[in-house]
Amino acid sequence: MSQGEVLHSDAGHEQTMVIVGAGHAGGRAALTLREAGFAGRILLIGDESHLPYERPPLSKALLKGESSLAACSLFSEASFIASGIEHISGVRVTGIDPAQHRLTLNDGVALSYSKLLLATGGQSRSLDLGGRVFSNVQYLRTFDEAVGLQQRLTPGSRLLVIGGGFIGLEVASSARDLGCEVTVLEAGARLAARALPERVSEALLTLHRRKGVVIELGAQIAAFHGSDRLESVQLVSGQRLGCDVLLVGIGMQPNLDLALHAGLATGSGIQVDGFLQTSAPDVYAAGDVCEFARADGGFHRQETWRNAEAQGRLAALNMLGQRQLFTGVPGFWSDHYEFGLQTVGTLAPGARVIQREYADAGFVLFYLDQHSRLLGASGWGAGNSIAKDIKLCERLIESQVELPLAPLADAGVSLKGLLRGAHV
Ligand SMILES: Cc1cc2nc3c(=O)[nH]c(=O)nc-3n(C[C@H](O)[C@H](O)[C@H](O)COP(=O)(O)OP(=O)(O)OC[C@H]3O[C@@H](n4cnc5c(N)ncnc54)[C@H](O)[C@@H]3O)c2cc1C
Repeated sequence: MSQGEVLHSDAGHEQTMVIVGAGHAGGRAALTLREAGFAGRILLIGDESHLPYERPPLSKALLKGESSLAACSLFSEASFIASGIEHISGVRVTGIDPAQHRLTLNDGVALSYSKLLLATGGQSRSLDLGGRVFSNVQYLRTFDEAVGLQQRLTPGSRLLVIGGGFIGLEVASSARDLGCEVTVLEAGARLAARALPERVSEALLTLHRRKGVVIELGAQIAAFHGSDRLESVQLVSGQRLGCDVLLVGIGMQPNLDLALHAGLATGSGIQVDGFLQTSAPDVYAAGDVCEFARADGGFHRQETWRNAEAQGRLAALNMLGQRQLFTGVPGFWSDHYEFGLQTVGTLAPGARVIQREYADAGFVLFYLDQHSRLLGASGWGAGNSIAKDIKLCERLIESQVELPLAPLADAGVSLKGLLRGAHV
């Protein structure tokens, strides 16, 4: 198609659904449109060259060479072809005109849409290296970056991680399993402090140190030394840490540019109502980029697999004319060596916290409101050991049942029983 040519993507079809961002939320939405019986045209436009895939394995199994892109993909090649969804890959959407129901691609092509979903996710927050570029500095958001990082994590290589959040710590864990020397620099007083209770941060710290990771809390960087390659990082304390590869894991920034330039309401993400509809007619948002209206009037954005999955699905149904409110309970997990943490609901500051200890040193913290109803829970344990109880916590949150405190703290009392109202 030549530059500037206008493609009327509605041609021959009643409706054309366009999805910008072929990541998890976008891919799930495209699939849901078809599964729900939509027979018109679906265009899934993404700037990566791959079919939509799940990102969690990038820092875990895939980085360790125990998984593949195909295993992380939301579709098999065959099921994708059968779905009739058109995947326009390696292409960026550069502008949207909500009044005209049109958008523009970076190759100059213009498209029209009946309904549009913005599922543009986010990009790694970049670290200022004093204006310099080093060839061995890595970020981790995409499959291609995971492949690049994996090639550098050879046994004995020195990995320096900036940022003691989930991605930095999961990479630290995978790198130790691969035989690397690992140091993590965290500016804050504890690990993953934004998302985790203190006790879970402590469990993470103890485990990583036991596995041989050097963790510096309260670390302040004074300088980066090297020429083409970064050789070492100097701390304000004077300590100099050599490295073969530096991973920057200091969070992500939602991709808001399209929405901002189109005049859509934005805050920390693209703002949507309870039906995931943006301030522009026929334009929806889902996933990491979506800041959704809460019942209390505020807005909230999540950066989790679970949210991308649920919102991708729901946005698609609402694009088809259903009016389903987004009521998803938030939740996430993170894996480190042979341990895992899981959180569900809201870990409200000021909530009453009850602790349940398991025989294998795992635990769950229950966050309760003033009526002893569960608001959220956060747990830690070997493998997937706490998964069942965290799942039951989700049902306890939804049930709004008043919980007795002593049985809640007693690992011998089944949470299923508490859900049914049986307190023994
Ligand atoms: C390494 C890693 C590990 C993770 N581990 C966990 C975990 O253990 N547990 C958990 O709950 N969550 C985890 N997550 C978070 C989870 O993967 C994300 O929340 C999820 O991928 C968000 O999906 P999304 O579709 O909103 O955005 P994304 O997956 O970021 O997809 C957005 C896509 O849109 C594309 N795009 C953006 N702008 C444009 C444009 N203008 N034109 C075309 N394409 C565009 C982007 O390139 C991208 O491909 C992890 C994330 C990462 C990176």
